[in-house]
Amino acid sequence: MQCELCGRDSKGCREAAVEGVNMMLCPDCIKHGENAVPISKTPANVKRFVTQRAHKAAPKDIYRNMEKELVSDWSELIKKARKKKGLSREGLGFKIGERTVTISKIENGDLRPPDKMIAKLEKELGISLLEEVKKVSTDRHIHAGMTLGDFIKTEK
Ligand SMILES: [Zn+2]
Repeated sequence: MQCELCGRDSKGCREAAVEGVNMMLCPDCIKHGENAVPISKTPANVKRFVTQRAHKAAPKDIYRNMEKELVSDWSELIKKARKKKGLSREGLGFKIGERTVTISKIENGDLRPPDKMIAKLEKELGISLLEEVKKVSTDRHIHAGMTLGDFIKTEK
């Protein structure tokens, strides 16, 4: 049996949950792993869920991203904020390390800014481009489950 954390062959490998992900770990990793907990302490529904997950992805990241969404008028918002700052498209592009044409596309609404760029734009322009998505909790739960399901398929 091979330990999924350190890769070492060990007969004493046991199932343990690391940050909610079920892995086979050698006794050393179980002992020293900060987040490793014996699988018996994990609720049954979580256990069933984690056994089919790839261990590289952290589920909590996906949930966090689900809660915020790009505002609907992002292109206007960016354009207005840029002008308020007295920046040209070139100037803004230079500051956040993007090409002028990319800024133009975003301001025209032709390009949805990727997450990385959203953070830079928010910082540079002092605006907020993300809003909390208000959904009924059961709704979000179902939606998240589907997303994770798709995610698992593509990981394999
Ligand atoms: Zn190990």
